[in-house]
Amino acid sequence: MKISILIVMLGIIPLLAVSQTNRIIMEDKTDKSEQQWANELSAEKYQVLRQCGTEAPFTGKYVNHKEDGFYYCAGCGAKLFSSHTKYDSGSGWPSFYAKADSANIVEITDKSHGMIRTEIKCAKCGGHLGHLFNDGPKPTGMRYCINSASLEFGE
Ligand code: FE
Repeated sequence: MKISILIVMLGIIPLLAVSQTNRIIMEDKTDKSEQQWANELSAEKYQVLRQCGTEAPFTGKYVNHKEDGFYYCAGCGAKLFSSHTKYDSGSGWPSFYAKADSANIVEITDKSHGMIRTEIKCAKCGGHLGHLFNDGPKPTGMRYCINSASLEFGE
């Protein structure tokens, strides 16, 4: 009994992992190990969500997706974006001008690849979603440029 409580408590403690470039890559509030993520996710989703990968432009399944509904984190199911804020940016990645729930998305300064960008992560599982730019349409002027592999569409 006591051991099971301890295991649950340890699982709740957010884990900080550091990539080879020494930047913090995730704060995972789930109780999953990287091995579990690797086992549960497809190779493409693992590479994008857990290793900050980027799918090739115009290849993702949601680039031209126009149904009404919400886009959820493909790692943990957190609600991220509404179809009502999706627009055609021409970038080749699903683009949104606002987030559905501020509590579910974190923004992190990303200095990789010789650029300074704002990285977008799922606040719950720490999964990499994409990047944030300030060339979006009104009313926010923001562009959330997101990998299809990080998303699951639903009601
Ligand atoms: Fe998530």
